[in-house]
Amino acid sequence: MSAAKPRVLILGGNFAGLGSAQEIRKYAGDSVDITVIDRKPYLLYVPNIPAEVFENRNPQLTMTMDILEPLHDIGAGFIQGEVTALDVDAKRVDYVPSERPGAAPTSTTYDYLVVALGNRLAFDKIEGFAQFGHTVTDNTYGEALRQFLMHDYKGGPIAIGSARFSQGDGAKGLAPYPGGSIPAAEAACEGPPVETMLACATWLGQQGKGGPDKITVFTPAALIAEDAGEKVVGQLLDIASGMGFHYMNKTHDIKRLTADGVEFANGQSVEAELKIIFPDWVPHAFLKGLPISDSEGFIITDLLMRNPKYPTVFAAGDSAAVTVPKLGAIGHQQTEIVGKQIAKDMKRLTAEQADEALQPVVYCIGDIGNNQAFYIRSNSWFGGDTQVLKLGHIPYMLKMQYKNLFFRSKGKMPPWGLDAARVMAEKIAA
Ligand SMILES: Cc1cc2nc3c(=O)[nH]c(=O)nc-3n(C[C@H](O)[C@H](O)[C@H](O)COP(=O)(O)OP(=O)(O)OC[C@H]3O[C@@H](n4cnc5c(N)ncnc54)[C@H](O)[C@@H]3O)c2cc1C
Repeated sequence: MSAAKPRVLILGGNFAGLGSAQEIRKYAGDSVDITVIDRKPYLLYVPNIPAEVFENRNPQLTMTMDILEPLHDIGAGFIQGEVTALDVDAKRVDYVPSERPGAAPTSTTYDYLVVALGNRLAFDKIEGFAQFGHTVTDNTYGEALRQFLMHDYKGGPIAIGSARFSQGDGAKGLAPYPGGSIPAAEAACEGPPVETMLACATWLGQQGKGGPDKITVFTPAALIAEDAGEKVVGQLLDIASGMGFHYMNKTHDIKRLTADGVEFANGQSVEAELKIIFPDWVPHAFLKGLPISDSEGFIITDLLMRNPKYPTVFAAGDSAAVTVPKLGAIGHQQTEIVGKQIAKDMKRLTAEQADEALQPVVYCIGDIGNNQAFYIRSNSWFGGDTQVLKLGHIPYMLKMQYKNLFFRSKGKMPPWGLDAARVMAEKIAA
């Protein structure tokens, strides 16, 4: 009888979870069994929700992809369940099957664990959001905004921006580039507010309801989207102020939303009929206080995505402390590292082949309406030397084609995907 294979359990089945399963299978081959647990059997393709909303398509119809088939294709199992607790000493995960209500709580064990659970987007911490707020962070909220724009918006002022991000201490001391660090961020992910403000202004123009001067974009930080690098943000802000957008920085946090606008923690406020809000990204409550978690509940790893105290525990994507800003593109880089590390433990790769540490790169392609987009590639926030900004039709085409290719390949992006996008955006668009 052959010995049982090590069991890899992946918590979460969206970008980082599905990607980890595929990369582990790619590099570790059949040396491990893989199981994914997620509360839902589909992937939510978050990055294109703003484009769907402002191009008047219902994201509920276009922004989900089944994950059962891609997992079946690589021989990975799937459990549809709500993870409720994790015991890293007993190597046990508690969950409640979530396909139908009333299921009996149960548990499962693992040899290797990959935490890819994303975060809670904490709208519930923002007073007044339920009555007065809108957003584009999931299909339900995206469709509610589309309906509001079509039927209820009266043409008043618009405020778009982020609440303060409560970053933990889990990435302190890591240096992804020589002399660099994982920075302290005051907002979790500010590509989306920049994209939303530009797409919203185009939408206003198309509807004959005004233009950029109706929109105020705000940030808790000194500089919006600072992960893109000061040069790029300077260029973006010049373009935006030339177009007539209003800009508020150092708001510290959102205090509350009211029918009339947004009140900030620094005492300022802005009038707005429509408030499009990006919240704090908060770790799931059951992760806080674990020996693998940082001060907020993000999972501590080194730059090989391994927890230093529990080396068979990995994290990838938004739930990892090292993922700052909370960007899918950085999570994507991490899934390959996870795959290679587990393959190394299985003796399928040598240390020389596997030990390529994370060097985060911010890749962000944001829809700006009229079939145009901005493209940012930057690593300067982490200590690198690259800051690229391009605007135009080719970045837009790339954004849309990337999504199509992702769905067609069931999430298994060809290795040349990002390189080809980079050449097209930077060489051809130039
Ligand atoms: C509007 C918007 C636009 C964006 N645009 C971009 C972009 O252009 N480029 C980019 O790189 N990034 C972008 N991002 C960020 C990107 O969406 C995230 O970084 C990415 O989704 C993180 O992937 P993840 O798999 O780590 O987490 P998630 O996508 O949050 O997935 C976590 C998974 O875990 C599951 N889960 C959570 N808790 C439990 C539980 N207790 N039990 C069972 N399952 C659970 C969830 O169901 C989910 O499937 C954008 C974000 C927003 C909001």
